[in-house]
Amino acid sequence: MGERGDRYDVAVLGGGIAGSLAACAAARHGARTLLVERLGHLGGTLSSCLVGPMMTFHCKGEQIIRGLPGELVERLVRGGWSPGHMPDSSGYTYSVTPFDAEGMKLELEAMVREAGADILYDACLFGARAEGGALRELSLAARSGEMRLSARAYVDATGDAALSAFAGFPIARPERFQPATMVFKMAGVDIPAVKAYMRSHPEEFPRVAGRPGLADSAPRLALSGFVETLKRAKAAGEYSVEREDLLFFESNLPGEVVVNTSRVFVRDPVDPEDFSRLTLEGRSQVRELAAFLAARIPGFSKARLLASGEEIGIRNSRQVEGEYRLTDEDILLSRPMPDAIAHSAYPIDMHSSTGGGTDSRFLPEGRYYDIPYRCLIPRLSRNLLVAGRCASATFAAQASIRLSPSAGAMGQAAGLAASIAAGRGLPVAEVDPGELRDALRAQGAWLPPRP
Ligand SMILES: Cc1cc2nc3c(=O)[nH]c(=O)nc-3n(C[C@H](O)[C@H](O)[C@H](O)COP(=O)(O)OP(=O)(O)OC[C@H]3O[C@@H](n4cnc5c(N)ncnc54)[C@H](O)[C@@H]3O)c2cc1C
Repeated sequence: MGERGDRYDVAVLGGGIAGSLAACAAARHGARTLLVERLGHLGGTLSSCLVGPMMTFHCKGEQIIRGLPGELVERLVRGGWSPGHMPDSSGYTYSVTPFDAEGMKLELEAMVREAGADILYDACLFGARAEGGALRELSLAARSGEMRLSARAYVDATGDAALSAFAGFPIARPERFQPATMVFKMAGVDIPAVKAYMRSHPEEFPRVAGRPGLADSAPRLALSGFVETLKRAKAAGEYSVEREDLLFFESNLPGEVVVNTSRVFVRDPVDPEDFSRLTLEGRSQVRELAAFLAARIPGFSKARLLASGEEIGIRNSRQVEGEYRLTDEDILLSRPMPDAIAHSAYPIDMHSSTGGGTDSRFLPEGRYYDIPYRCLIPRLSRNLLVAGRCASATFAAQASIRLSPSAGAMGQAAGLAASIAAGRGLPVAEVDPGELRDALRAQGAWLPPRP
């Protein structure tokens, strides 16, 4: 049995955007940091599930998510992996940021390594021991067998709050689960033909009604629509997915699209048997959808299925019960939080858990909301923080903060706070939010002064 202890101030579990940027932030702040990931690459949902584009870094014209997530985009652009931020031509939010999943893996890995953190791949957390709110030791299934790990402070960025659950911290089961989606990529799409159809059939694209030219204004197409085509296909028995619109996005490579349309209803995303059922149903939907797109959707007749996700995408699973639980009212009323560590202007985006439809609630134009540090602190915790989609929020609030730019921003904050706590021997709840905000600003975060 291997041991990895003492050497590390901060251990981050999960190498999605939240965990990768947490590790990067902690290491840049001077903490000896280890990032543990069960797969063989970073990026989490953004690489293993093929999800993209990132949305949104903006509130109207202002880039409100900067810091390490902003730096990641700059690196993706420099490396030719992303065309950068651009208007959302699907009409849903302010901006989208397309990227290649391969570039995401490479740039996150480079950021973490350049910061000086170690990465332990192919190591799956399966147990944790805590005493009096202090995490003492983790058990990992590693290539060599069982491995034990301890550090001064920990960040749970597993998306599923796996570390918090295994250690016995209070977990809130969401009131319901959003559906899962098996994202897939198709190449060889004739985008000009799709745009020509959009111009001649505006009734198919109600989200962008009254905004002609929006699709042409963006260097990469983001599209939600073909609603009449789907209605007809459903009536004719040619299409079975419980989804009212086709949703797809051009990736960094022109003519390659990420299709985010499959919909599989979830009973329990952390139950191994249910997860396998979701995966199997997701892949059979990919087969159906790819054939349907090629046969019925203008521009797709020569397109080929390139890849489906290594895993099906899970939108929500477990949330920790934190020192504070962010609510939909906090978001929609832009309630100011004295300990804000990140902001977002993304709507509350709830895909139906039982049928067609998506319930979206929008902030007023030009408004953004605060994510408080307290949402990253599991109740009763002394040395554990969470970041990303498992942070403390109600079902509806999670449906906004789960998006990748805000997940990354939470990761940066959790990594910095863990480093401050480890460095001083402080309980995580005693990290001064003012000091944390200053440290975040020093790493480039956009945090305007509180009133
Ligand atoms: C279908 C779908 C579509 C989406 N569309 C968009 C979109 O268009 N734009 C957007 O910005 N966001 C989108 N999102 C949301 C966004 O992608 C994710 O919520 C966000 O990336 C989550 O980041 P994370 O780091 O919190 O978690 P994750 O990306 O889930 O990363 C968690 C990491 O932890 C690892 N891990 C888990 N358990 C263990 C364990 N026991 N031991 C070790 N490692 C472990 C995983 O392998 C993974 O790498 C979508 C999500 C889904 C599911």
